[in-house]
Amino acid sequence: MASVTAVRGMNDIAGEQSYWFDQLELQARALLASYGYQHVRLPVVEKTELFCRSIGEVTDIVEKEMYTFADRNGDSLTLRPEGTAGCVRAAIENSWLNMGAQKLYYMGPMFRHERPQKGRYRQFYQLGVETYGFAGPDIDAELILMTARLWKQLGIQARLLINSLGSAESRATYKEALTNYFAAHYELLDEDSQKRLYRNPLRILDSKNPALADCIAGAPKLIDWLDEASQQSFNRLLALLDASGIAYEVSPTLVRGLDYYNDTVFEWVTDALGSQGTICAGGRYDGLVTQLGGKATPAIGFAMGMERVVALMQLTERTQPSSVDAYVIAAGDEAQLKVQPLVETWRDQSPQLRFMVHHGGGNFKSQFKKADKSGARFALVLGDDEVAKQQIGIKFLREESEQLTLAWTEVTAWLQSALVTE
Ligand code: ATP
Ligand code: MG
Repeated sequence: MASVTAVRGMNDIAGEQSYWFDQLELQARALLASYGYQHVRLPVVEKTELFCRSIGEVTDIVEKEMYTFADRNGDSLTLRPEGTAGCVRAAIENSWLNMGAQKLYYMGPMFRHERPQKGRYRQFYQLGVETYGFAGPDIDAELILMTARLWKQLGIQARLLINSLGSAESRATYKEALTNYFAAHYELLDEDSQKRLYRNPLRILDSKNPALADCIAGAPKLIDWLDEASQQSFNRLLALLDASGIAYEVSPTLVRGLDYYNDTVFEWVTDALGSQGTICAGGRYDGLVTQLGGKATPAIGFAMGMERVVALMQLTERTQPSSVDAYVIAAGDEAQLKVQPLVETWRDQSPQLRFMVHHGGGNFKSQFKKADKSGARFALVLGDDEVAKQQIGIKFLREESEQLTLAWTEVTAWLQSALVTE
């Protein structure tokens, strides 16, 4: 019978990739906790209206990428394409905004019906950070410092692109100038951009079509239209980054693919992953809380594409360390009866030691083969003779060294010191 396959663009994450995913999650959790950020778990499904009202009707996501379906009662629901909208919804609904300023983060799957390719999937994982109640730009700098520290800890490199979108008002005047410019170059635009010209011309700046690059490079720059307050805030942010020794590149065409941003926007990019080079992106969205029915609250956040960060980690030729310290084998009736309770006593003594107990019996030779394959450094060998003497044999699997015999009571202390001298 033909087997059922996974949905295109939705991946199983296992083996080495899963190991590095876990490392990323563990390090990120510890780092975020050290800056005082709290973990939130939010629904994967929200009402469709939430995304239309926040991300913007004339965006790639809302126009063509959402997984939208009718619930059994007829409500239109959508698998979340990003995390910010749901987080703002939760903050309003649970009155988090009345409990003082908030620093939050989440990790989990997002869904977009895009063309699957390397670094671009239909189910992908984001680590998102959102803050509420901080007007910036000092918090803007903190988010950037935090991500820079994570790259350093993970041993990866990325460049920081930064821009200011200004206030909603200054953007409205800029939009006019931009529309006039692109209208004058109408024949150079692709079909998507022509459609967007009068509805959302900023989206054209975000186009990934290389044929438009020159035309976009010649367009009026948002940064020249900033009002006094936005200009000052942007300069201050750059000064804060300078003071912390963070290198950046001001990128005038960086506008981001969602409508809710204002003032600070930034992306961390790399050339090592081909065209899917943005590993983390974010910005300020001071208007979104009121737009979704909450009280006026300044906000800024970012989202990191975890597959892309893991791919960068894997490019640095790291090898997954062994997940087993000692593989325990037993042959003989008495030995097989005793081996599991014995290892349990060692687990009581030293919970951090990683034992893998052989299952399924077999002779010593076949068990040794499994021990070798497990990647463990040591095989612990229990026969009926050893049981009688309350001893166990220790065989070195990765180095030339004589086998030795230890009393059961000595095993955990011996393993601990042997593993330190790696
Ligand atoms: P891109 O420009 O690559 O399409 P985006 O601007 O649509 O990204 P955001 O909505 O800002 O992306 O999401 C933040 C991050 O999530 C991106 O920088 C990227 O690392 C990751 N990401 C976005 N879409 C995908 C996807 N389909 N597959 C894998 N990662 C993704
Ligand atoms: Mg996209």
